[in-house]
Amino acid sequence: MDGTTTQHDPRRQVPRTDAVLADPRLVAAADRLGRARVKELVVAAQERARAGELDPGDVVAAAVAALPATAGGLRPVLNATGVVLHTNLGRAALSGAAVTAVAAAAGATDVELDLATGRRARRGRTAMAALAAAVPDAQAVHVVNNGAAALVLAATALAAGREIVVSRGELVEIGDGFRLPDLLVSTGARLREVGTTNRTTAADYTAALGPDTAFVLKVHPSNFVMRGFTSSAAVRDLARLGAPVVVDIGSGLLTPDELLPDEPDAAGALRAGATLVTASGDKLLGGPQAGLLLGRHDVVERLRRHPLARALRVDKITLAALEATLTGPETPTRAALHADPTRLRARVQAVSDALAAAGVDVRVTASGAVVGGGGAPEVTLPSWSLSLPEGYAAPLRTGATPVVGRVERGRLLLDLRCVPPDADGVLTDAVLAVAG
Ligand SMILES: *Cc1c(COP(=O)(O)O)cnc(C)c1O
Repeated sequence: MDGTTTQHDPRRQVPRTDAVLADPRLVAAADRLGRARVKELVVAAQERARAGELDPGDVVAAAVAALPATAGGLRPVLNATGVVLHTNLGRAALSGAAVTAVAAAAGATDVELDLATGRRARRGRTAMAALAAAVPDAQAVHVVNNGAAALVLAATALAAGREIVVSRGELVEIGDGFRLPDLLVSTGARLREVGTTNRTTAADYTAALGPDTAFVLKVHPSNFVMRGFTSSAAVRDLARLGAPVVVDIGSGLLTPDELLPDEPDAAGALRAGATLVTASGDKLLGGPQAGLLLGRHDVVERLRRHPLARALRVDKITLAALEATLTGPETPTRAALHADPTRLRARVQAVSDALAAAGVDVRVTASGAVVGGGGAPEVTLPSWSLSLPEGYAAPLRTGATPVVGRVERGRLLLDLRCVPPDADGVLTDAVLAVAG
């Protein structure tokens, strides 16, 4: 073997794993992320050095640069899509108050213990009290994992082996191939479909009621609209039929929002006579993923005591986030929905000026934002966006702080409606980093 060439072989100069791992930054990272994860990154950097892609002297620096911010794989993203509740971005962003409450509840916490007496207490009682206070029209409340779970629990506990009477116009697919009728039938309930796709009257329901009826179900067709020769029965009319009425309002508005006149709210449905209302926690309510069950005391109690309720039980983290959402300051969801277009324009202009000063091909453009999350499909929220060359889209998504926008007619639009105002600087820096 030729001694001269081995000496110059960079593979020989690649530092050993334990030597690299002894770097104080990587020692600290191992405490934060776990030693195995850090070691993986070190081995990857060593392999690049052995392949001649990296100077052996840069192995430590490369491993440090590759360290993720947290041990979790989910990365914080700036939502510049103009879609307030973006399903692929986790729907509602939690408020700062909810994030703090989650952190406080993350360790050992009094979720089922009365600290004054030292005895077991009702799980999540403060969150349940906050929900009950937020919807005084509900005699009782319960919370499960998501809106679909709320419906499954209601169907299982109230209608297994019996009939759910539902309009043919409300057999909705909620997304990703999941369909409410399949979900309901999976519980052992039978669907008694009434009316037609476009028209269903109270008389159609009346004709279908019988000894096998468990409840009448009204589903808000949240992600589509029907126009033309259409009609449907109001909750008020269904409540007169004599059978219990379960109303799936979908989006979780507890009280009406003047911006979204076609979105049903829980208080309105209960006042109209609904026996039980189901809704999601992470849509317009702006909270964590959860399914809300609101309604008559005996019915909610039946659901709460059903064996399936145990399988749909929410975590202390969810309870903490939900309570802080209900009692805390305005949610990011509401702030984004109600953002003032004039202020949005001023923010977009300021970011645009900073980018233009650095030579970026940027324009300010009016845009249309939407509610998303399968809600209010007809509503367009007037908004403002930065317009950049389309080529920015991929590098912005994969940068240190991923920024997700949308491409329209060959330009990347970054809509600031759903970007928190205090993140404008981060967004500016992200674009500058791509511009080089
Ligand atoms: C979103 C939605 C659901 C499903 O709720 P998840 O919280 O996503 O499980 C059910 N029904 C309606 C009408 C909805 O809009």
